[in-house]
Amino acid sequence: MNREDNLIKGKIIADTIGEELKLESAQFFQKTNMKPRLSVVILGDDPAAMFYVRMIEKSCQKVNFDFEKHALSEQATEEQLLDLLHRLNEDGIVHGIIVQTPLPEHINEDKIREALSPAKDVDCFNPVNMGKLAMGNPDFLPCTPEAVFEILKRENIEVEGKHVVIVGRSSVVGKPLALILLLKMPHANATVTVCHSRTKDLASYTRKGDIVVAAAGAARLVKGEMIKDGTIVIDVGTNEEKGKLVGDVDFDEVSRLASRITPVPGGVGPVTNMMLMKNTLQAAERQLAK
Ligand code: NAD
Repeated sequence: MNREDNLIKGKIIADTIGEELKLESAQFFQKTNMKPRLSVVILGDDPAAMFYVRMIEKSCQKVNFDFEKHALSEQATEEQLLDLLHRLNEDGIVHGIIVQTPLPEHINEDKIREALSPAKDVDCFNPVNMGKLAMGNPDFLPCTPEAVFEILKRENIEVEGKHVVIVGRSSVVGKPLALILLLKMPHANATVTVCHSRTKDLASYTRKGDIVVAAAGAARLVKGEMIKDGTIVIDVGTNEEKGKLVGDVDFDEVSRLASRITPVPGGVGPVTNMMLMKNTLQAAERQLAK
């Protein structure tokens, strides 16, 4: 199959969602005289984290949301971070909050997760929100797995009853994605297998998948010989290889066999940012409805 025929263009999906959110944001403004506001907390000056924060700021501009950045030094104490979070939790003009990870070692991440108000937790960082997802009754979905779900929905890819094989079991991507696809709701209801670094003979699982999602953080891990013809392949991975961004899927090999495939870059990444915007609007609407 020609590569262009099977390509899932995440950038175009993200642009469409952005246009929808811009309209909804204008309606929100008409009703409330406020824009949805996202607050990003970052400690230190890690280039990758700073790049990601700039991408979030750009996304906010695109959909007409307010954005604020709270940059603390890498030496900031746990108390300082908790104080800031408490202030943001109480601040009526802040609707969504995200805390950039990884946090420095002297900060207890669990305490920070618990301190973030579940009502403003637009990336499902607080265990209450993750627990609700695990119970099948989610409030906010974590943005990256939500992006995978949204892509499958918008591309009319049938998930119900299909076998989805996820490579990676992290608490930000693989595990919550499994929980989402297991939900008893339209576009979910999948049969899910989750593989990880201790899985023996990974290929024997991926070959059985109707849909394979790679979220391992290992460049070109999924090879052509590891999937069957016609598989739908979603590549969440972002790895730097010789100054280039590559996914967890060997795109040249796998795109010849896959019926649909997301590229890296331009696949899951841009949709993830829009999910953050969508969740911020949802948080704003819920807070103002109270
Ligand atoms: P992580 O390191 O926390 O988890 C990786 C998981 O993959 C682990 O469960 C590990 O057991 C598994 N794994 C690693 N190597 C494996 C192998 N050889 N075989 C089988 N399983 C293996 O990573 P993460 O935070 O879940 O991120 C995964 C990837 O997704 C990374 O490349 C990351 O950069 C990317 N990511 C992309 C987005 C986006 O929006 N596109 C967002 C978050 C993360």
